[in-house]
Amino acid sequence: MELKLPVYLDNNATTPMDPRVLEAMLPYFTEKFGNAASRNHSFGWVAEEAVDYAREQVAKLINADPKEIIFTSGATEADNLAIKGVYEMYASKGNHVITATTEHKAVLDTCKHIEKTGGQVTYLNVKEDGLIDLEELEKAITPKTILIAIMYGNNETGVVQPIREISKIARRHGVLFFTDATQAVGKIPVDVNADGIDLLAFSGHKMYGPKGVGALYVRRKNPRVKVTSQMDGGGHERGMRSGTLNVPAIVGFGKACELCMNEMESEAARLSKMRDRLENSLMELEETYVNGSTEHRLPHVSNISFKYVEGEGLMMGFNKNIALSSGSACTSASLEPSYVLKALGLGDDLAHSSLRFGLGRFTTDDQIDFTIDAIKSTVTKLREMSPLWEMFKEGVDINAIEWAHH
Ligand SMILES: *Cc1c(COP(=O)(O)O)cnc(C)c1O
Repeated sequence: MELKLPVYLDNNATTPMDPRVLEAMLPYFTEKFGNAASRNHSFGWVAEEAVDYAREQVAKLINADPKEIIFTSGATEADNLAIKGVYEMYASKGNHVITATTEHKAVLDTCKHIEKTGGQVTYLNVKEDGLIDLEELEKAITPKTILIAIMYGNNETGVVQPIREISKIARRHGVLFFTDATQAVGKIPVDVNADGIDLLAFSGHKMYGPKGVGALYVRRKNPRVKVTSQMDGGGHERGMRSGTLNVPAIVGFGKACELCMNEMESEAARLSKMRDRLENSLMELEETYVNGSTEHRLPHVSNISFKYVEGEGLMMGFNKNIALSSGSACTSASLEPSYVLKALGLGDDLAHSSLRFGLGRFTTDDQIDFTIDAIKSTVTKLREMSPLWEMFKEGVDINAIEWAHH
């Protein structure tokens, strides 16, 4: 097989859609165009049947009941619905939410929003390995705490939080547990019952499905959880999310879930082997560090800092042949270093010199070979031109240098 360029290693940002997903979706754009809420004719029934089937496929992947799946436009909306929805629904019980500093912006900014409306939020720090401290979590709980919002797998580092331990703490204190599992679902086994999860958000386009569709899982028993709708109208999705259902996208999302269900185990093994090969080869370079726990980590992610080299510069060095993300410019056009890496205790220099590798279903061994060679030679070349590297090699303590600031 011929090497396919550019190499796409940004699967945490979005995944290409699987052709089998597209195939499942196509009829629902054209001849099967009905509104799933139309109860009076076959066009509506056909669409409704397709949505019901997709709801089963989606639920099955996380071991939920289909009735517990609320379709949304993606994980951002599901995060908003979970946090704002619980905050409003359980207002008489309390106003305190606990989350962590390394959450996705969709969670952090939603928490900031509820702070503006009188809510209280505790942002837990993480340890050097990216994991939260369970004792700190338990200590943060007050009689006013209504929700713990901790993500499953981190989008920048791949670090997987101790979900079962978190849910046990939540249960013990009668607090609901919400997890943004956008990076984990379809990649590793996620089971809302075994894991003790009350609400869970995920998204189609992070798991080889279409963009613009996702879901919020809302537990229906032990306990029965409710969220206040954030979108009012025709009362779709059991009143929790109104709006005509995006039938083709939902069909695709369902198909994507089914494919992950069937292929996850072998795919996780294939990807972690490839990821480890990539990581081990790159670690042969001096002054190279893997960011976050390598033990509690998603199988397809590696975040590596190449000290004395700028991530952005590195990417220019590849001549656009490798598509990945650096620890800068993650959410905007600014060159702010990643807040996730800084939360792990990295200095600006190491955060700026990081690259995030997100492997995926269509990544090949040839592409990994190409990436290893390209990165090794680019890092070596850039370091050879770097005065800091030269000083480091001469044994100068760079941290002791006083820089002129302006
Ligand atoms: C991508 C991502 C989101 C946002 O998902 P959308 O479906 O694009 O809105 C939220 N959380 C995490 C962890 C993500 O990786």
